[in-house]
Amino acid sequence: MEEVIKLAVIGSPISHSLSPKIHKIFAESLGIDISYEALHVEPVDFKESVRSLFQKGYTGLNVTLPLKLLASEFADNQSEESRLCGSANTLWKQGSAIYADSTDGRGLINDFQKQNVELKDKDVILLGSGGSARAILPSLLKKNPKRISILNRSEDKALALADKFSQSQQRIQVRSLTEKLNFKPDIVINSTSASTLKQDILLPDDIFHEEAFFYDLSYSKDPTPFVEMAISSGVRKCSDGIGMLIEQAALSFEIWTSMKPKTDSIKQNIFS
Ligand code: NDP
Repeated sequence: MEEVIKLAVIGSPISHSLSPKIHKIFAESLGIDISYEALHVEPVDFKESVRSLFQKGYTGLNVTLPLKLLASEFADNQSEESRLCGSANTLWKQGSAIYADSTDGRGLINDFQKQNVELKDKDVILLGSGGSARAILPSLLKKNPKRISILNRSEDKALALADKFSQSQQRIQVRSLTEKLNFKPDIVINSTSASTLKQDILLPDDIFHEEAFFYDLSYSKDPTPFVEMAISSGVRKCSDGIGMLIEQAALSFEIWTSMKPKTDSIKQNIFS
């Protein structure tokens, strides 16, 4: 009999995680046997927990807040993307070494492709400068947008983020949330946690354009406040981040099992 592939997501808080559901759908569709748990792990216990889980025969781990930076630092080998963004959401063991990758950025790009959104030569606005902004920036830059304007409530964090990617500085600018844009963005990506926290977000008052694509990394059963705001401001094409969540999970699943799950029909089942 084939052995069950043991997987888990670790983080704190963790009970809300949709990852067990998504990975079980992937496994069922491919006819393979997995277990996938959501385990509460605090930063102080991170190293010990990861070592112990791999010792117990886990094939792979997803890592979520607040452990993504620790995961990247802790791994013996990081993917180029994980090194560039200093963050990891996927761990696995090969021989005695622990490997880390960050699949968030590629997950976002795959969701954009599914929605026929091109980044090449586009004027992109990135709202927020937290962990997810850092995780997606290398993938966004790889697609050669014309420019990425970073706007964040704490401007010092936006400047620090831009500085981290200083090799691409000519394509990254930092702007204030309180000033008019005075240009029409093609794509606006909200990587703040304002939607998830149900908080208001201050935005430049000329940010909404009906032909721009608005994408909120946050997701929920109902339209997120950011998506609702975009729709009510006349934007025709908007999306929340559920597609990205599914796509980044599919990339992790493929790393662990070498099998590529289908992602198309999952969105409808995820909140049921
Ligand atoms: P962080 O806590 O690292 O960063 C939060 C960011 O949001 C900071 O830039 C912060 O600004 C900003 N922010 C928070 N509240 C407000 C507000 N009221 N107005 C304006 N800005 C605000 O979080 P992450 O980057 O890790 O995650 C952000 C969101 O992305 C979460 O909702 C998360 O669920 C979602 N996410 C979705 C993924 C997916 O697969 N779809 C993957 C990863 C994340 P400041 O610097 O001033 O504090």
